[in-house]
Amino acid sequence: MFHKILIANRGEIAARIIRTCEKLNIQTVAVYSEADKEATFVRAADEAYLIGGPRVSESYLNIEKIIEVAKAAHVEAIHPGYGLLSENPEFVKRCEEEGIVFIGPTAATIAKMGSKIEARKAMALADIPIVPGIEHQLLNVEDAVFTAQKIGYPVMLKASAGGGGIGMQVAFNDVELEKAFISNQKRALNFFGEGSMYMEKYIENPRHIEIQIIADKLGNTVYLWERECSIQRRHQKVIEEAPSPFLSEETRRQMGESAVLAAKAIGYENAGTIEFIVDEEQNYYFLEMNTRLQVEHPVTEEITKLDLVEQQIKIACGEKLTYGQKDISKEGHAIEARIYAEDPVTFFPSPGTITNLEIPNGPGIRHELGVETNSTVTPFYDPMIAKLIVTANTRNEAIELMVHALQNYEVTGIKTNIPLLLDIFEHEAFAAGNTTTNFIEKTLKV
Ligand code: ADP
Repeated sequence: MFHKILIANRGEIAARIIRTCEKLNIQTVAVYSEADKEATFVRAADEAYLIGGPRVSESYLNIEKIIEVAKAAHVEAIHPGYGLLSENPEFVKRCEEEGIVFIGPTAATIAKMGSKIEARKAMALADIPIVPGIEHQLLNVEDAVFTAQKIGYPVMLKASAGGGGIGMQVAFNDVELEKAFISNQKRALNFFGEGSMYMEKYIENPRHIEIQIIADKLGNTVYLWERECSIQRRHQKVIEEAPSPFLSEETRRQMGESAVLAAKAIGYENAGTIEFIVDEEQNYYFLEMNTRLQVEHPVTEEITKLDLVEQQIKIACGEKLTYGQKDISKEGHAIEARIYAEDPVTFFPSPGTITNLEIPNGPGIRHELGVETNSTVTPFYDPMIAKLIVTANTRNEAIELMVHALQNYEVTGIKTNIPLLLDIFEHEAFAAGNTTTNFIEKTLKV
């Protein structure tokens, strides 16, 4: 087992990784920016090093600086968390060159799955159902219109390098598509430095359901059931749950087996997630693969009783999976709500100092926190400050517990999305399991 790990991340996920390291008796090294000097995760680590200015480009994305600290502190491995450098093949290569273990898959796998077009190609080859569309780059507007007419409207234009819900636009006809082509390309160039795009059929009223997989270095691969992540705002997840209230046992099994097949087809190792979009008839289509730990991994941990960070570390260390598919449990129902520092009406970020934070505790309530009383939420990073996870025997009990917990969750000094979360959890359509990706816009009309 490793003796010392560097965590190349911040906020709640850095704190979460440190917790598992403590359990495994692994020393931890945090890196932090000037804006995070007082952050909770910095104090939680055994060692902490300032690596630069508040902008992520000056600190959390500074590969050479992080490698320098890793070498100076003599760590054996780096955990990248999610976001930031977690899916950056250059970073993984640098770790490999320096003989530092990257806790995740190989640089080549990350690069392949980082291109949505390449990922679609690989999945089509492995016979995994993909959303109807093309597996090559669109040449120009005329090519886009021609392709859309062949696929059939509505269609979705997607930036190959896209992520975080950015670089996708829906078009219902030629005129909309022509406009979308130009604006989406501009946006992709702006955000990702490259404007290549492809096209998919736009699935109406879909659900986003993803499968967690885990694979050791010997090729043993299992699936840890699904997470339903359909409650989204602007293609970004807000609430996740496991199991999905929608899937039949048969579809669940088929999706799990497809995910394992997909992972094996690309020689995947460590924890990963295959995202699927599921239509009203329970047809499922590959969307993308996330080659890292997901924000919403706790709901899977709750129903399987596995610590995913521990699994990741053990696999990176070369350990073999000690369980097979039949040993994976699926007990109870878990729901996660992402708590954002944002105005619940305008959705604008709400930075500031948290003057008081009081969180509810009790059986079935779990917190992943990046902040505490007197923490400052800066405008430099993602406004997600915490996650609240509840687990109960049934979905209805979990919803009840969630409502109770949110009603007793007190954050002052900044605004949060808690009122919006309560509107969702108290809505009869949510209770009925009628959750599709347009729930917030259509059902709540915000
Ligand atoms: P990103 O990498 O930016 O997160 P994804 O491809 O994972 O993008 O898609 C994010 C969300 O966008 C999905 O969860 C879904 O809500 C919506 N979406 C993506 N592709 C489609 C599609 N073909 N039809 C309908 N909705 C889609």
